[in-house]
Amino acid sequence: MKHFFTSLAALALLAASTVAQADISIEKSSFGKTKDGNDVDQYTLKNEAGMTVVLSTRGATITQIHVPDKNGKFADVTLGFDDVAGYEGEDNQYFGNTTGRVCNRIAKGKFTIDGKEYELAINNEPNHLHGGAERSLDKVVWKAKVVNDKNGSGVVFSYTSPDGEEGYPGRLSVTVRFTLTEKNQIRMAYSAKTDKATPVNLTNHAYFNLGGAGSNTVLNHQLKLVADKYTPTDETLIPTGKIESVEGTVLDFTKMKKIGARIKKLDDTAAIGYDHNFVLNNQTGKVKLAAILRDPESGRVLRVSTDQPGIQFYSGNFLKGQKGKGGKEYAHRSAVCLEAQRYPNSVNIESFPSTILKPGETYRQITIYGFGVIKPKGEDKKADSAAKAKG
Ligand code: BGC
Repeated sequence: MKHFFTSLAALALLAASTVAQADISIEKSSFGKTKDGNDVDQYTLKNEAGMTVVLSTRGATITQIHVPDKNGKFADVTLGFDDVAGYEGEDNQYFGNTTGRVCNRIAKGKFTIDGKEYELAINNEPNHLHGGAERSLDKVVWKAKVVNDKNGSGVVFSYTSPDGEEGYPGRLSVTVRFTLTEKNQIRMAYSAKTDKATPVNLTNHAYFNLGGAGSNTVLNHQLKLVADKYTPTDETLIPTGKIESVEGTVLDFTKMKKIGARIKKLDDTAAIGYDHNFVLNNQTGKVKLAAILRDPESGRVLRVSTDQPGIQFYSGNFLKGQKGKGGKEYAHRSAVCLEAQRYPNSVNIESFPSTILKPGETYRQITIYGFGVIKPKGEDKKADSAAKAKG
């Protein structure tokens, strides 16, 4: 059953409102069933410029992002699979999904709250990774609702994780609202509530290759991170608790740098490449630019903005040549993740910003993926003076 929704109706309803509504079409369709027989839906969002985003209810996942290159040619720039079985299989390394209850690693899968020790699954020896092995947020089927209001057009996913699921305390109600804008932005707004103190750290785990998913490397992509510092890790990728300057290291992306320029120096590290949490400069809880990723060949640009204190830059080092959408291969270092988050293992490191959510509080986080193209040199200035001439 297909359901077609356009914001024009809502526009009429909101005629009195001064808030401009984007004309985003949203189409619901079936994506298939999980191996347990649960229905999985997908939602296709399209704006007037033709940018298309597909979301799936399994894992509140971004499965496709089609954006134009410098010549207006569209490509799908995010990794994923053509069917639910692909997402349920071993080759899925959290492609596009909502990650939690706690993203990244918790040392040895242990933490203590109010004197009580909790033990979680060890699914990334010797640590706990991305919320667990069976029922982490990326693996469950979420409820979905189309929304169209003053905050934009999109889909709200919701999931209530029972007390004790994956070993975490508290019944956690989570929502993620995805909206698509006319400015080619995907806006993700998260919220969560609990009935017991519990750690929460949510992110989106989209893998990007701006040349098109399945292009064989991102080493020629360029990256800028608005981060002077990072959280160094031990040999199991757990932060040591220190916060150090990137200056003079291969982690210095304070100016736009080619990803491949210095990556070789990380070949012999546990991460075999970039897999670091960067401490974003002057984050005070407002949404600010955190990262710019550019592909000089296609001309596509991704800007990540967030209200989070950190961003994990992962250069797809553990991609293993698995086959994804359209049978394309996802090779080692053929995609980049830019995961806005609180710092990894914060639940065990007191000096890091807290990830504990208490009853009565609301967890919130906002991250925006904004797409564009590299402007030819001087074009910004030309546009500027043309605007000035016009008055
Ligand atoms: C982590 C990597 C991990 C990957 C799993 C990233 O968020 O930082 O270490 O291998 O997720 O796909």
